[in-house]
Amino acid sequence: MSISRAIAEQMEHASWIRRMFEIGLELRREHGPESVFDYTLGNPDVEPPEPVIAALRRVVAENRPRSHAYMPNAGYPEVRDTIARRLAGRTGLPFTAADIVMTVGAAGAINIVLKSILDPGDEVILLNPIFPEYRFYVENHGGKVVLAETDARFQPDLDRIAKAITPRTKAIVLNTPNNPTGAMYSEAALGELNGLVRDPIIAISDEPYRSLTFDGAIPSEPLCLIERSVLAFSWSKAMAIPGERVGYLAMSPRLGEIAALRDACTFANRILGFINAPAIWQWVVGAVPDITVDASQYQAKRDRLCDALTAMGYDAPRPQGSFYVFPKTPIPDDVAFIRRLMSEGILAVPGSGFGRAGYMRLSLTISHDGLERSLPGFERAIRA
Ligand code: PLP
Repeated sequence: MSISRAIAEQMEHASWIRRMFEIGLELRREHGPESVFDYTLGNPDVEPPEPVIAALRRVVAENRPRSHAYMPNAGYPEVRDTIARRLAGRTGLPFTAADIVMTVGAAGAINIVLKSILDPGDEVILLNPIFPEYRFYVENHGGKVVLAETDARFQPDLDRIAKAITPRTKAIVLNTPNNPTGAMYSEAALGELNGLVRDPIIAISDEPYRSLTFDGAIPSEPLCLIERSVLAFSWSKAMAIPGERVGYLAMSPRLGEIAALRDACTFANRILGFINAPAIWQWVVGAVPDITVDASQYQAKRDRLCDALTAMGYDAPRPQGSFYVFPKTPIPDDVAFIRRLMSEGILAVPGSGFGRAGYMRLSLTISHDGLERSLPGFERAIRA
């Protein structure tokens, strides 16, 4: 069987997360699951809120006629209308159902935009460190990744972004609250970015962590601050339903060429074959669109972990949102430090996996108990 060179290369790039997963299985087999502290995956450890499950039960019990039939390629008009009204209320922009395409998660939303706008060799700017899948989304559609490093506080660096823009630039991907850093982009940075996002560039704002902010922080609103923007949203983290992969793409009504983009994204939603959000979950999120998990449980774990690591001597600033902590590794070789943690039964992802060596990502989806029991291992690792 001949595997394409492109996918073989992509799999090699992706290997950090996969390697950690396999190492985790091995460690659990060797030492028992209770001795392994897994900080690797951003998979919510809580159940979906009860109103979500109640809505699911209602949708199934109603079993409306033709509720499993094909729908319009952009999704159910009623659900899109509900989302458009919410967005219009939140942003003050005149969203209508026509601006919304229901997708398989935020990943689906990003893929249909990139499919719609990229010609081979067109460039997409990513703000480093990055969610590693972005690279594949861009390459899936013939695009080329151009990295622009963020500043010391993981905010967009306007000078670097300006330098990264070329006549081939078609998009810039933003992600706030951020995976892996937990940073939230400031209004000032996004406001300045608006000046750089000029035709034909589009800002794709990827916001699956929008409802997961801490200390009462209100996330900035790229749709309002950047004229040429689209929003990729998913309920994966907000409702703790990542296995269902339900989300949407919202195209700002202020985009000049919106009719063409709507048509292209709707078409791509169909022809990519796996991206149109499943029917039942469209009805569920349409029924309870604003229900979210309680972010305070992640905040409590953030506080405990960051305080404990800081007391031990780690440089572990508190993230403002998402559910990741992104401390510096005490030695510059993050992969070597990850190995040291592994010998303590602690699994974390090296910053290198996100394009930023010298850091590590710790997911707050670990249990409270696991977090507590892992702390002596962190202490021994920094003293080793
Ligand atoms: N964007 C970021 C930053 C993510 O962390 C994830 C998932 O972890 C996604 C997009 C994909 O979200 P979904 O699984 O809902 O498509």
